[in-house]
Amino acid sequence: QRHLAEAHLLKPAVLADGERVQVMVNIAAPEDVDAIDIASCDGVGLMRSEFLFHGETALPDEKAQYLAYRKVLEWASGKPVTIRTLDAGGDKPVQGLTVEEANPFLGLRGIRLSLTRPDVFKSQLRALARAAVYGDLKVMLPMVTVPEEIDEAARLLDGCLAELIGEGVPAKRPQLGIMIEVPAVAILPERFARAAFFSIGSNDLSQYVTAAARDSSAVARLNTAGDPAVLHLIAHVAGEAKRLGIPLSLCGDAGSDPVLLPALLSAGLRTLSVAPTALGRVKSAISQIRP
Ligand code: PEP
Ligand code: MG
Repeated sequence: QRHLAEAHLLKPAVLADGERVQVMVNIAAPEDVDAIDIASCDGVGLMRSEFLFHGETALPDEKAQYLAYRKVLEWASGKPVTIRTLDAGGDKPVQGLTVEEANPFLGLRGIRLSLTRPDVFKSQLRALARAAVYGDLKVMLPMVTVPEEIDEAARLLDGCLAELIGEGVPAKRPQLGIMIEVPAVAILPERFARAAFFSIGSNDLSQYVTAAARDSSAVARLNTAGDPAVLHLIAHVAGEAKRLGIPLSLCGDAGSDPVLLPALLSAGLRTLSVAPTALGRVKSAISQIRP
């Protein structure tokens, strides 16, 4: 098993019939890339930017963020890099930003929180627009629930670009896409067709579809992307994304679960983003699958 995974690590992922599958990596801190050979993946499918906001003191400024994002883009050498805007709240509290709530998973988290703090959100969008000059950057919004959230984020991003250009700072507009992790979006993806791309967050989608919190061991048995209703929604999203011509990936843990992989590929998914340690194993498993 281990040998097989190693043999597959530096090769492109292909299904048993030879069809190509994109396998990207999930990262958090920019230093994560130091241990990853860019040749072993098709780019970064999810960079969780929360790590930057877990310092002991103040929130990170624009420059600290810009340098972190730029490092990852330079490492990627032209391969796509998807950076998710701050997903604070829920299971990811951030001191000085998130608020106490009775139901944090159903509260002010992800894009909902960012839109209430344009000061913080704009420092991130400016840093991203500046880093975009250094590679193929895509920006992804977490926890989107209504299409207006994309419009508001796009408006802020355009404002940041205009500001940067006015200041004479090099910047570029990255593509703006969304996570599909709230059932309201997975049920009607068509309403969100203004997004440049979709990425299924199977971790949150599973918890919201099964009504079983991802941080509760007592209900862990219920909370699985293997639940037929979750798989049904994933297949529905894949069909809709294809019909609408919107690029789709999946970046939740389901993408590295050997039991779920055949179902995900049968559903039509051809881009996955997984933990760096799972790359070889996932590619090896894909090579055995004939969807
Ligand atoms: C997800 O929800 O599946 C996901 C990829 O994001 P996170 O686990 O960071 O919420
Ligand atoms: Mg999530």
